[in-house]
Amino acid sequence: MICVGIANQKGGVGKTTTAINVATALAAIGWRVLLVDLDPQGNASTGLGIAQSARRSNSYDLLTGQAELADCVVSTRVPRLDVIPATVDLSGAEIELVELDHRTHRLQRALEGLKPPRWDICLIDCPPSLGLLTINAMVAADSLLVPLQCEFFALEGLSQLLQTIERIRARFNPDLSILGVALTMYDRRNNLTEQVAEDVRTCLGDVVFETVIPRNVRLSEAPSHGVPALIYDHRCSGSEAYMALARELLGRLPDLKRAA
Ligand code: ADP
Ligand code: MG
Repeated sequence: MICVGIANQKGGVGKTTTAINVATALAAIGWRVLLVDLDPQGNASTGLGIAQSARRSNSYDLLTGQAELADCVVSTRVPRLDVIPATVDLSGAEIELVELDHRTHRLQRALEGLKPPRWDICLIDCPPSLGLLTINAMVAADSLLVPLQCEFFALEGLSQLLQTIERIRARFNPDLSILGVALTMYDRRNNLTEQVAEDVRTCLGDVVFETVIPRNVRLSEAPSHGVPALIYDHRCSGSEAYMALARELLGRLPDLKRAA
């Protein structure tokens, strides 16, 4: 099972929207996908229509060792897509984990615990911080997908993210790679957006995905209906872009093999 963390310590850049819709697109293509909601806000869980009552065992319990992975998995209405949901309990984890053994490797250990893997690929939706939750994701992950919002300060904060990735590589996970940077909320009518996108490509080069995610109101409407945009309106520009992004992402994962 390949594990991809979706990380950027900025809030509101499209991490969760990307997690939900890339996960759905990959499942639609035929992959078996596990989405781990690692944000105390639980937006990915809500956006996938997971009721609070179905979150009794969740990512907090998994990280603190109070539940096994298998007990935390909830299926979604998307075939082949399962989720480990999050609740507000997770907001205490940043502090509680400090006291626990192997505090940086808890997610990795939990994900490794299940053999043979039930999924081909695992996506982790990170919270908007570089604390222990995101570090757990970076230790567990093979690579990272970094959503970047096309706004004036897009690159601000990126050096801090890259520094953290460097530190994780040096100490815990030497093979952690950046799978790609995805430009989100792209607005073709806005000259600034185009300028920012150009600057980001000049600065970061090929690591930036060719596919850009347009600003599309359907993407922001879908979560309130508890379904991915790809189900809410599979023909909207946002859904088409996420489908394309998922295919581009697969092209960068040559080693991805379906679990037996
Ligand atoms: P993050 O997880 O990084 O905090 P979200 O994915 O939750 O970011 O996105 C922040 C807000 O912007 C949400 O209300 C979401 O619905 C909206 N949003 C995200 N991507 C788009 C997009 N491409 N077009 C329009 N709205 C978007
Ligand atoms: Mg989020």
